Amino acid sequence: MSVISDNFDDLGLAPDGTVDASRTYRLGIMGGTFDPIHIGHLACAEQARDAFGLDAVLFIPAGQPVFKKNQKVTCAADRLEMCRLACADNPAFDVSPIEIERGGDTYTIDTLHQLRDYYPENVELYFITGADAMLSIVSWRNSQGLSKLAHLIAATRPGFVMSDEYRRTLAEHGCFDVSYLEMTALSVSSSMLREWVGQGKSIRYLCPQGVWQYIQDRGLYRASGLGE
Ligand code: NAP
Repeated sequence: MSVISDNFDDLGLAPDGTVDASRTYRLGIMGGTFDPIHIGHLACAEQARDAFGLDAVLFIPAGQPVFKKNQKVTCAADRLEMCRLACADNPAFDVSPIEIERGGDTYTIDTLHQLRDYYPENVELYFITGADAMLSIVSWRNSQGLSKLAHLIAATRPGFVMSDEYRRTLAEHGCFDVSYLEMTALSVSSSMLREWVGQGKSIRYLCPQGVWQYIQDRGLYRASGLGE
């Protein structure tokens, strides 16, 4: 197990000489709270892998999401384990505990610096997250530095329109290089799944089987689905 991911060394993306210096690698970084991870996230990562020619995608659950301090968030260990269960059957996906192990508030800029220091220069980083989250990027810590470390990919739901004004604001903050990826018509969201479990409704098939089983076994979201 590497310090960055569970088994990325197997993918030839480790900086220990297994990386082929004669070619460029593209590594997707899937950032999110993943509370819980669901089929929308997985399909999004797979579609990004396909659309941007990514060699692999690393899911990084946020340790302490800074914008969710007044919200109940499931403990990091459970969110990490659900990500591991969800990614287990895709050899191009892996999960990293770096944001959780770093402790303190989670800032994407710190994560990208950590990854940039770890991987050699011929591994390009593509940070992927939801367009709604990306809309707040101008208020993230050192947002101007993000684009220097990674290409930014905002995953949109169908019908999402990026206004000219917002594009201008992004550009003013140095975030010129934002690509948009329209996900297929998946209306599933983590908040919907939490709410449904809280209401006693089934979420089977909306997240991978192992995640569904884990949520049941751990009794997650039973009382927390509402009022967040
Ligand atoms: P969020 O506000 O919970 O998510 C906003 C929307 O984006 C939701 O609809 C969410 O759907 C969707 N989404 C989130 N992650 C996604 C992904 N990887 N792919 C597709 N859709 C996604 O956002 P969040 O999860 O807390 O944060 C997203 C990322 O931005 C994290 O990596 C976080 O650390 C980073 N962030 C950084 C800062 C900072 O550095 N200051 C501040 C805020 C966020 P679901 O609810 O279904 O996931």
